[in-house]
Amino acid sequence: MPSLWSNLCPVCHQGRIFRDLVRMNPRCPACGEVFEKESGYFVGAMIASYFLGVFLALPVLLLSIFRFELEAVWAIALCIGQTLLMQPFLFRYSRILWIQLEARLTRVAKAGSNRKT
Ligand SMILES: [Zn+2]
Repeated sequence: MPSLWSNLCPVCHQGRIFRDLVRMNPRCPACGEVFEKESGYFVGAMIASYFLGVFLALPVLLLSIFRFELEAVWAIALCIGQTLLMQPFLFRYSRILWIQLEARLTRVAKAGSNRKT
């Protein structure tokens, strides 16, 4: 089973989700699994992207203010710059995380419903 950050298809673990840094395959090239299940599917990935961005920017903000004693405005500007530079990675890994989480939760839900019957 690939990790939550793996670029591999959550179904067959062979096909790649992203073909390069930001371009996504609509379907798994190996098994044909559709990655965008429905319109608006990746809204949850936007929320994941927000939390990943905050998780990565907060240490930089705190270090720049408390360790390197930058003024708050420069520390915030640094975090904004960092977040802008990291956008391709945030985009990619938030979608990968969303696809992997959805596949695992679906698997758990199916296993739970099979036990009841
Ligand atoms: Zn696949």
